[in-house]
Amino acid sequence: MRLNPSASIWINGQTVTESQATVPVWDRGFLFGESVYETFRTYEGVPWLFVEHYERLVRSAERLHIRVSYSVADLWAVCLRMAEAYLPQEAYLRIIVTGGVSDIVLEPPHERVPNVIVISKVFQPFPAAWYETGAPVVIARVRRNPAFALDPRIKSCNLLNNILAYRDAAQVGAAEAIMLNYEGWVAEGASSNVFIVNARGVLQTPSLDVGLLEGVTRRFVLQLCRQRAIPIEETHLSVEDLQQAREVFITSSLKGILPVTLVDGRPIGDGTVGPVTRQLLRWYNEAIRAYVERVRAGGTPLPYC
Ligand code: PMP
Repeated sequence: MRLNPSASIWINGQTVTESQATVPVWDRGFLFGESVYETFRTYEGVPWLFVEHYERLVRSAERLHIRVSYSVADLWAVCLRMAEAYLPQEAYLRIIVTGGVSDIVLEPPHERVPNVIVISKVFQPFPAAWYETGAPVVIARVRRNPAFALDPRIKSCNLLNNILAYRDAAQVGAAEAIMLNYEGWVAEGASSNVFIVNARGVLQTPSLDVGLLEGVTRRFVLQLCRQRAIPIEETHLSVEDLQQAREVFITSSLKGILPVTLVDGRPIGDGTVGPVTRQLLRWYNEAIRAYVERVRAGGTPLPYC
């Protein structure tokens, strides 16, 4: 059975068919969830913010004592080639680096030899209506695991915490589940970061010490604001701050900047996509166009943030 007819898979240097695309049951990714990943999409066939994703992949891997054996240039070449095969459609790309095989022991006595996998498929856009009139989100009942237990900054393939939270959104057809940290502060979405424009008109996002993944898109939005002298506060936000905000949006590499106009069925601000979100969306789209042109001209991915 082919799960996704558009999928193409690369493992440890080889492009393989779906039936060849397997990892051993001894892989620590399977045995223990010891694996890390990055997900991103292309624009005009160019993987967006590739260097930033690669660097985060290496940082996550280091936290688990996994060494990423491919350079940024190696994986760039793989992803670009895979993505170009889909043109004029855009690609979804996922790089996975596992802990490699070992006996069933928590800490193997030898160095981990990772399996490195790239999965690509046609990128399926999110509903256009979400971007035009804003998306609904819910507050998840499940809390984000605290950084002192399992740091959300490690982008591990063990997504159980996120899956359990996202169920609350899926059940009611919401776009995202917003997770609170163990103390009740807004942390992040199940697969996105959160921003608000508060009642005083100040752009705010939860600070990293709340315990969240430092999103590549979050960093990019912070940089856009810095470049344009838009003040932005990284702070602690309560559920009330979220409910009483003038504007809310979420960010991720797949969703980009997604306006949010309903939280738990209650409208945010006047219930329409606000001016700050619209302005940021324009700047974000302009930056993407500039990035695509720059990469097409230079042939290599350049760091952005
Ligand atoms: N938080 C979590 C838990 C995520 O899974 C993601 C998606 N990778 C994000 C935030 C957004 O991160 P990025 O902008 O790097 O896609």
